[in-house]
Amino acid sequence: TLDAAMITAWIRHTAELVAADAERLTRLDAAIGDGDHGLNLDRGFTAAVAALPGEPDPPGRTLITAGRALVSKTGGASGPLYGTALRRAGKAFGDATEVDAALLGRALRAAVDGVQELGQAAEGDKTMVDALAPAAAAYETALAAGGDLPSCVRAAAEAAGKGAEATVPMTARKGRASYLGARSAGHLDPGAASTVLILRALADVVG
Ligand code: ADP
Ligand code: MG
Ligand code: MG
Repeated sequence: TLDAAMITAWIRHTAELVAADAERLTRLDAAIGDGDHGLNLDRGFTAAVAALPGEPDPPGRTLITAGRALVSKTGGASGPLYGTALRRAGKAFGDATEVDAALLGRALRAAVDGVQELGQAAEGDKTMVDALAPAAAAYETALAAGGDLPSCVRAAAEAAGKGAEATVPMTARKGRASYLGARSAGHLDPGAASTVLILRALADVVG
């Protein structure tokens, strides 16, 4: 199971991975967007870490707090989208002090639904949804096959990686990259790339 300390560790580790890869994310965004995705997320997750409670709150509270910080401090489209994802996941956790594999799966699904409601992107539109949606599906498949929490998270992180790679040939239909039309093809979507980092951070923390 996941407890409050692990949720806090996840947010911190995500901030580390984002900081380490910020230049790459920004370079990806320079190719098909406005070249700020790494900067945006670095600022946002730094703010999320700063907003973490000293004494760990229940997991749901912590995610809602981190999500709010992301929305208010991350510039760009990705801030409200990731902020919504964390807040929806936090709401799904409710008052649970220990999050089991089934509850984490429901929270991941709620996060994907929240991103899609807000951004109106479907799979294939070349966005973070192309990493997030396969991740939630792979998690559910692993869970149904009897996988424990760490193996379900690993399955989700792997599926996110494949989903992100699959954005390369796509033509963007949402976000700034869609302004390029067919010229957006041939590049990895920066938001899909950052989704991989966020899920990899969770996989690292759950072991
Ligand atoms: P901005 O484009 O405002 O500068 P960022 O560069 O931080 O914001 O984030 C860009 C990423 O946000 C894209 O690579 C894409 O994955 C994601 N994104 C943009 N619009 C949407 C949307 N409507 N739905 C889902 N994801 C989106
Ligand atoms: Mg950008
Ligand atoms: Mg921008």
